[in-house]
Amino acid sequence: MTKFIFVTGGVVSSLGKGLTSAAIGWILERHGFTVSMQKLDPYINVDPGTMSPFQHGEVYVTDDGTEADLDLGHYERFTHAIIDKHSNYTTGKIYRSVIRKERRGDYLGRTVQVIPHITDEIKEGIRKGASSNPDVAITEIGGTVGDIESLPFLEAIRQFSLEAGPNDCMFVHLTLLPYLGASGELKTKPTQQSVGKLREIGIQPHTLICRTEKPMTDGMAEKISLFCNVRREAVIEERDVEFSIYEVPVDLIKAGLDKQILSQLQLEPRKPLVLDDWYRLLDTIRHPRGKVEIAVAGKYIDLHDAYKSIYESLHHAGISHAHEVVFRKVSAEALCEGDPGEHLAGVDGILVPGGFGERGFEGKIAAIRYARENDIPFLGICYGMQAAAVEFARNVAGIEGATTAEYAPDAEHPVIDLMEEQKSISDLGGTMRLGAFQCRLKPGTLSHRAYGTDEVFERHRHRFEFNNAYREQLESAGLVLAGVNEQLDLVEIVELADHPWFVGVQYHPEFKTRPAEPHPLFRDFVGAAIKRAK
Ligand code: GLN
Repeated sequence: MTKFIFVTGGVVSSLGKGLTSAAIGWILERHGFTVSMQKLDPYINVDPGTMSPFQHGEVYVTDDGTEADLDLGHYERFTHAIIDKHSNYTTGKIYRSVIRKERRGDYLGRTVQVIPHITDEIKEGIRKGASSNPDVAITEIGGTVGDIESLPFLEAIRQFSLEAGPNDCMFVHLTLLPYLGASGELKTKPTQQSVGKLREIGIQPHTLICRTEKPMTDGMAEKISLFCNVRREAVIEERDVEFSIYEVPVDLIKAGLDKQILSQLQLEPRKPLVLDDWYRLLDTIRHPRGKVEIAVAGKYIDLHDAYKSIYESLHHAGISHAHEVVFRKVSAEALCEGDPGEHLAGVDGILVPGGFGERGFEGKIAAIRYARENDIPFLGICYGMQAAAVEFARNVAGIEGATTAEYAPDAEHPVIDLMEEQKSISDLGGTMRLGAFQCRLKPGTLSHRAYGTDEVFERHRHRFEFNNAYREQLESAGLVLAGVNEQLDLVEIVELADHPWFVGVQYHPEFKTRPAEPHPLFRDFVGAAIKRAK
């Protein structure tokens, strides 16, 4: 029998609800339970696939090709939950399904309404999220309590708890204790009000997790307990971390969160709690042996969340070498003019991430040329790999005007071209080459050495591809085609042989990394950068 935890958020957005939910999953796994993780998003887009990274941060991609919220990245980095199309439902996805049913006549002439039809559909989604029958299913509700658009989701989880057994459901509410510098105190009123809002719609939280930059005093916890109708020991402090987000789960254990969950859900731990390995990891993060500086040259560098998984992957790779990775965020647009050395001099590695469109593309090319000519370790991801192929075609193979058809559809030399099956597609949402595809690795290459295996499966999200018409010409000029998808006959990895470490991948390795198990390509890329730094 699966138990359910619903995580809501109050007072303000960006409290770290995704991280806290992932930490809850981590804590339960440490106690020997299996978990599933799910995010319900109140916005009306069917998925974030068509949203600008400036609006939404990165689009996370799952093995089954779902374009999803970036909180799913936290879930995968912290837990072993199966993450797929049922791990993320938006208002748009829910309504699309209800409207399809209505058009089919499934509602037999009834008036279709928010209650019960939309709320039933949400509850169905929650059950599908738990279809692997985990011990505990954790569902995070996006947005902030009090938003108009979250209401159907909150109503649905209220109904869900009513239908479940008394100890089968738990409501965790994440809130903020703002600190007023002028009077030097933390304030509890916003927490009282947001819990009040929840209680108005019939949800009494079992546990409050209070985000705060200063310690929460006993008196304050007692006050919150009294006014919010939550037992004192269930008012949990979540203080801002000093070094790393990977401190959050152990801090929450220290604050007693696991005891609250186990008692509310009447669960007995399945194994003794061992945290030594995690403390060692935190110790490595706190006391690195050295630093290494990696440039990330992209279009969205002003927003950390736009390349969230990439920064996390670099961080994990650094941990495996006991080094701190320092990011130099370089605007691809700034690189379009002048000397790239002005922006890139002194870095130990250069990473060019994925992206779309014309803006910044030439800047990426300039960064790649700089990496190639100066023997700086380079990792190109998706658009970054495509740009690497174009740069090589232009400046090494001498194909003048080589480019990607993405921004020059009528170019004479589209070294990167639209895939055949993409040519007839008109809808932008959910129509790219998405999800996990096979890649066969060529022995003797950097990628083969990194993975230590002949075949890998990695996640894709793109419309354009390396153009096979240029394969021979580029190979004979020295480009190494280190990985191919055999079924579709597509080039997935390009490398340089006469360079310390230069790898471009058509897929997104950043979606498969954990703090203690870095992605092999990121690990070796950062390793090469450390070697150069020395
Ligand atoms: N814009 C490129 C394409 O669609 C690359 C996409 C990406 O980097 N995710 O093929």
